[in-house]
Amino acid sequence: MSDFIPVNEPLLDGNEKKYLLECIETGWISSEGPFIKEFEQKFAARMGRKHGIAVCNGTAAIDASIEALEIGPGDEVIMPTFTIISCISQIVRNGGIPVLVDSDPLTWNMDVTQIEAKITSRTKAIMVVHIFGLPVDMDPVLDIAVRHGLKVIEDAAEMHGQTYTGKPCGSFGDISTFSFYPNKHITTGEGGMILTDDDELAETCRSLRNLCFQPHKRFVHERLGWNMRMTNMQAALGLAQLERLDEFVGRKRRMGSLYSELLKDIPGLQLPLAKTNYGENIYWVYGLVLDESTDLDGESAMKMLGEKGIGSRPFFYPMHQQPVFQKEGRFQNEEYPVAERLYRQGFYIPSGMATGEEQVYRVVESVKEIMSRVGV
Ligand SMILES: *Cc1c(COP(=O)(O)O)cnc(C)c1O
Repeated sequence: MSDFIPVNEPLLDGNEKKYLLECIETGWISSEGPFIKEFEQKFAARMGRKHGIAVCNGTAAIDASIEALEIGPGDEVIMPTFTIISCISQIVRNGGIPVLVDSDPLTWNMDVTQIEAKITSRTKAIMVVHIFGLPVDMDPVLDIAVRHGLKVIEDAAEMHGQTYTGKPCGSFGDISTFSFYPNKHITTGEGGMILTDDDELAETCRSLRNLCFQPHKRFVHERLGWNMRMTNMQAALGLAQLERLDEFVGRKRRMGSLYSELLKDIPGLQLPLAKTNYGENIYWVYGLVLDESTDLDGESAMKMLGEKGIGSRPFFYPMHQQPVFQKEGRFQNEEYPVAERLYRQGFYIPSGMATGEEQVYRVVESVKEIMSRVGV
């Protein structure tokens, strides 16, 4: 077997080393270091927001947002079932009720036409999650939110540098969140960011991130928070990566277009949409969905790719099917057929920032071989 092609590899060949070295040489390695504020300010400015609050990962950013919005017992939050567990955990821990909607079969994002029918007197917020590289259709969501007085939480973890009708993703929520995990468009190793224009929410998130220490009575607490602080070393990486965001988005778009060009004529295979009328795909990951008319599902395809030295990952397992919630009797008899099919038939192929053209060609050859052997 020739070299294994990993599903993701980050690109760290800009100023990362230089800024990291500066942390070590100056001794500023904790969250007190100067790169944190600089990263927060520059990242927030890039996304057109007033406040940026850097945290230790994208999940923590969501947890703090839910807590800051005071989503509590009985409060309903409308959100996609096709997403990562990070989106739902703190809602459930706080006693809130996640109310799910299915996915659009073409964009794989939440089907925004299903939102309004799910609103009740207990609905408090809509959580949008931009999936895999295409933005959620925000205008209808924002319109519903305004008409019903709902908060919008925007999980933009997969959307650094993406826009919706020309406006940055991450600029739409009352609170918006990002992750900087190594498979995101920019990475800090582990890391996340909360963005908001609301001074009070920003202050609350800063406090929640830092154990709700009080400025004047440090060890006296009015509220429970977490230690979610980002280190100066993470922010050093973030600054170096942010300098290259446009280049990174360009790389991903070229990679996605190349995959689509090479895979477009294969029967039985659904590819990501290149664009919608509100956004052009930035291919956080390059996903494939096998038609149910093929005798292949995502799991078997991933196994065959693995045997050919190609890394891959499954799609999200829908929230309503999660054992942790089934055990509690949540989401009983709820069905979301599109999300269920996406999980069963979908997977993604190597599409990291450092995935090169030769690797794309090799992956495509393997996908073609596999598809030539299945019935359609
Ligand atoms: C990656 C991701 C997260 C979680 O971020 P972590 O930094 O891994 O905690 C949350 N939401 C979405 C949509 C993601 O893709």
